[in-house]
Amino acid sequence: MAGILGFGLLDLLLVDKAFAWDTPPLRVHTRAQWKAVPPRRRAQVLSRAPDRIVVHHTATPNSKDYSVAHAYQLSRQIQGFHMNTRRWDDAGQQLTISRGGHVMEGRNGSLAAIRAGRHLVGAQALHHNSHTIGIENEGTYSQAAVPARLWSSLVETCAWLCTEYRLDPFRAIVGHRDLVATDCPGDVFYARLPELRGDVARLLDLDETSDESDEEFDSEKVSAQPKVKAKPKKAPPKAKVKPKTKPKAKPKTKPKEPSSGIPLLEDGTLELPDLPMLP
Ligand SMILES: [Zn+2]
Repeated sequence: MAGILGFGLLDLLLVDKAFAWDTPPLRVHTRAQWKAVPPRRRAQVLSRAPDRIVVHHTATPNSKDYSVAHAYQLSRQIQGFHMNTRRWDDAGQQLTISRGGHVMEGRNGSLAAIRAGRHLVGAQALHHNSHTIGIENEGTYSQAAVPARLWSSLVETCAWLCTEYRLDPFRAIVGHRDLVATDCPGDVFYARLPELRGDVARLLDLDETSDESDEEFDSEKVSAQPKVKAKPKKAPPKAKVKPKTKPKAKPKTKPKEPSSGIPLLEDGTLELPDLPMLP
């Protein structure tokens, strides 16, 4: 537990309000960074973890612009569509990944909730929003290939979520179409979900081999994964006990949470009505 609690906050403070994961570091760009507009209402946070990670595509053009500026523009575009056209309270998805591999917070409070091991209810999978967290991947993958940069960021993001939420990637990672009648995330992306689960598991398993000794880990594997060591190694054993036994432990260690001043709700029973699906 010490490893879990000790990791993350320091890196958050060191890496410009972002989550550092691996080499190259995974950085989650905050809403402030992409200049989100305020939500109409703050999002609901449940005291339990989600049990599924839902992979979406945005069904937007397959842009060749891999810049962070484009990624921010994408986030603003999605938020505007969800709030102004769909009339939702905020962006529906919890996380967004651009084709350039830039990872961004979606719905307000998502990063704080993830770090606290709690589920922030989004609007991304009809009838399943109360127990699933959604990742919107930029592009349309009915035929096009998934950019390597997007893929690697998605693998790292899923590994991060599996760690924070104590999830088994083989069970947790699903496509939108597994839950709802939709083409999302496209045939090409969907066909690669087994590979995604394997890549995530491999990233987590690599770490488990260093479970016995941080020193040994440092000497042998520091070049491969210098920052991932503290958290994933503790994840598997706690997969089922964590949501019930530790919901208040982690938040105490994260008082300086910079991404959101919104206090987390303790309520684990209230649930929003299911919201419309994303593409
Ligand atoms: Zn979708």
